Amino acid sequence: MKITLIRLTFVFLIITSTAQAQNRYEAASSQAIWKAGVSRVAITPKQPMPMAGFASRTHNSEGMLHDLWAKALVIEDGKGKRAVMVSSDLLGFPKSVSDKIRNKLKIRFGLNRDQILLNSSHTHSAPVLDGALLDIYTLNKAQLESISNYSALLEELIVNMVGEAISDLEPAELYAENGVTRFQVNRRNNNAVLLTQLSELQGPNDYAVPVIKVLNSKGSIKAITFGYSCHPTVLNGYQWSGDYPGFTQLELEKAHPGATALFFQSAGADQNPLPRNTVPLARQYGRELAAAVERVLEEDMKKIGSGLMTTYSELQLPLQSAPLEAELVNISAKTANAYEKRWADRMLIETRAGKKMITSYPYPIQVWKIGELPVVSLGGELVVEYAIKVKQMLGPDAYVFGYSNDVMNYIPTSTILKEGGYEGDVAHVVYGMPANWQVGIESAILNEVYRLASEAGALKK
Ligand SMILES: [Zn+2]
Repeated sequence: MKITLIRLTFVFLIITSTAQAQNRYEAASSQAIWKAGVSRVAITPKQPMPMAGFASRTHNSEGMLHDLWAKALVIEDGKGKRAVMVSSDLLGFPKSVSDKIRNKLKIRFGLNRDQILLNSSHTHSAPVLDGALLDIYTLNKAQLESISNYSALLEELIVNMVGEAISDLEPAELYAENGVTRFQVNRRNNNAVLLTQLSELQGPNDYAVPVIKVLNSKGSIKAITFGYSCHPTVLNGYQWSGDYPGFTQLELEKAHPGATALFFQSAGADQNPLPRNTVPLARQYGRELAAAVERVLEEDMKKIGSGLMTTYSELQLPLQSAPLEAELVNISAKTANAYEKRWADRMLIETRAGKKMITSYPYPIQVWKIGELPVVSLGGELVVEYAIKVKQMLGPDAYVFGYSNDVMNYIPTSTILKEGGYEGDVAHVVYGMPANWQVGIESAILNEVYRLASEAGALKK
């Protein structure tokens, strides 16, 4: 009898606590100021293919270290306004691929460009995409065909993935906080070869690890987005991999079963992981970044309040004059650099065919305000001073991502443009642009960020 009573009490307690949990769940749902949905798709090529980012590779990929992923986080505010953040283990979305994906997202899901963030980690162990850096690779017909087929498949996979993330929308809570880790080195201002002898490293750097934590209505982690400003160039071999951010995402997903970890490359254009070139180093940096994210997750994070604002524009950034025919002939004859010769020869053919070279480029700038959190996403390979300057404008808590929506070239500051070097002078040839940027793009970009931030209500009060 006593046992039965205890049992009955026990059952009653279970029923009561389940009912309370149910009530709490309903309360959370009706009061939810955010919804969130996630999805992912493996984008590892099924066949060996040319690998992106280095001119020195001589043949197709050989196997993989781990799968390449595209992942999506869709957020929706209390009024039903949506934004989608797509992360990808890719070198960068060229305009042609990005435009096709964004056009399809508009047609299929009604998402406008201000609502879509397509970021690539910039791993140098991913496939070459259509129309990206083609002068630096020597490619045969079969390879070009595989690039074209893969790019078309990738577009479809990403669009479908975003659809799945939308179907996954459920009440959620969002939290934000910056972490910190310091394995990147300013590659312009420190000599990598002499690194072990340097007692002092020169900046500028931005060590921020911007994290967003998404909890579902049961209180478990549904998604972790995180960023960092550093080139994923630890690895330069022939196996597919996400480089250090790939390892970080694996670490975080192992530590938080059921969670989706999404990496967003920040302003890492002039930041290298040093030393580099071994798989254990890529794993080490992956774990260092994961530890920085874990620290943020363990501490109190700021809860993100209601309301989503999204803005986007394409700013025409002016280019210097393209070289004339005689100059191209000269470069082609004199350069010792194989890809500069290919670039000059292609430009020569186009010039002789009467093609008008572009004199400016539509540069994508996106500013969001998620609750109180400003998120600035800029195109191209963004050097670190842009992150520093945007944070001076919008506050230290602002998140700044480069490599977003279109990666067409490096984006140097005025200082770097004047100094020259790889990021300031050579990169436009690597990217196949007819000429370098004009000095003055820095203030044009920062002015436009200010204008959009004002439109989004993201300026410091
Ligand atoms: Zn790069």
